[in-house]
Amino acid sequence: MSIPGFLKKAAGFIGKDTMAENESKKLVVVIRILVLSIIFYFLINMILCSAALSVSGALLYIVFAIIFSCIFVMSYQYRSMTVLWIFSIGMISWICIMVRAMGWNVGVQHFIMVLLVLCFFSSYKHYAVKVIVAVFLCAFRMLLFFIYHSGTPELEITSMVENSFQSINTITIFWCISVIAFVFSNDTQKLEGKLVEYNNRLKIQANTDILTGLYNRRKAMEFLEELSRKASSGIGFSLCICDIDFFKKVNDQYGHDIGDEVLIKISEIFQKEIQKGNFAARWGGEEFLLIFPSNNGDEAYVEIEEIRRKIKNLRVQAGDTSFGITMTFGLAEYDFSNGLKATIKEADEKLYNGKEQGRDRIIF
Ligand code: GH3
Ligand code: MG
Ligand code: MG
Repeated sequence: MSIPGFLKKAAGFIGKDTMAENESKKLVVVIRILVLSIIFYFLINMILCSAALSVSGALLYIVFAIIFSCIFVMSYQYRSMTVLWIFSIGMISWICIMVRAMGWNVGVQHFIMVLLVLCFFSSYKHYAVKVIVAVFLCAFRMLLFFIYHSGTPELEITSMVENSFQSINTITIFWCISVIAFVFSNDTQKLEGKLVEYNNRLKIQANTDILTGLYNRRKAMEFLEELSRKASSGIGFSLCICDIDFFKKVNDQYGHDIGDEVLIKISEIFQKEIQKGNFAARWGGEEFLLIFPSNNGDEAYVEIEEIRRKIKNLRVQAGDTSFGITMTFGLAEYDFSNGLKATIKEADEKLYNGKEQGRDRIIF
């Protein structure tokens, strides 16, 4: 098997799900990586002890390597929390034994930090458990210090071997804490990314009309209010309310679905024809709102006339027949003295006048 193939298989094996389907496998995967790393660490230490002619030290590491291999197997058979507790008990036991055997200067006690970090990244039902575990680990470390820091280690090791153990311990502890932090922070980063994406989607949905894809009335009002605030410094704008002529007849004659199709087709024309910086929204039912933030009425009129023409030329297919539609437009410039509401009312009244005068026209 090639090396990438082997690594892929190994990653798949380590990343296997927990026994319980309803829990995250993240914790148990982290523990598996830690257990394997620590078994590897035991084997290196065993070789080091053998080289330093400490047979009992080497034997101790073999025993720990076997125990941790059992913990690795258990990680496939028990719930992640059970595995965490078994792993923690295993760690505490070997830390105790090795501090006693090798002495305080070798630095085995720092492995307690791995447990502390793991405890805070794991999710317990009650936060109090984290606090209790942290206090326990702190007390355990202090106890180890008072018992062993001044005593003589049971295994006789030279200062060179002591330095080697110290280095291996430091590297392994940094590795273990990095693994925990990486796996859990990676997840948080992914979740944060998802949340931002979800919020953006929600924002778009909140501003968009589902049927036509145009902005909805809420967004249009927001935009108009912003423009009317700017208008207080003398910058005017134009707005136009438009309505499909005899739309009820379209629904009655061809059905609601064809009516919807008309709304979509008209919206496509708005989207295509409206110039950059201008704004088309579904104002409600078969009414639309066009906003021209930096155009006066005359300029807006030219653009609307083009839209009106395009809509008039549109043919909508309904079964074997096709039909045309028209729209009426009420255009108003921002009313500086009476404000936004009055401007909307003026556009509405002009739209009504357009209907009265025979439809398919722009009233300005
Ligand atoms: P007018 O020229 O005076 O505007 O006549 P009209 O028939 O268009 O006016 P009216 O306000 O009486 O009818 C509007 C119709 O628009 C009634 C309603 O069923 C229809 N309508 C509103 N929203 C939708 C929609 O989302 N889909 C469809 N298919 N029809 C809609
Ligand atoms: Mg209407
Ligand atoms: Mg209508």
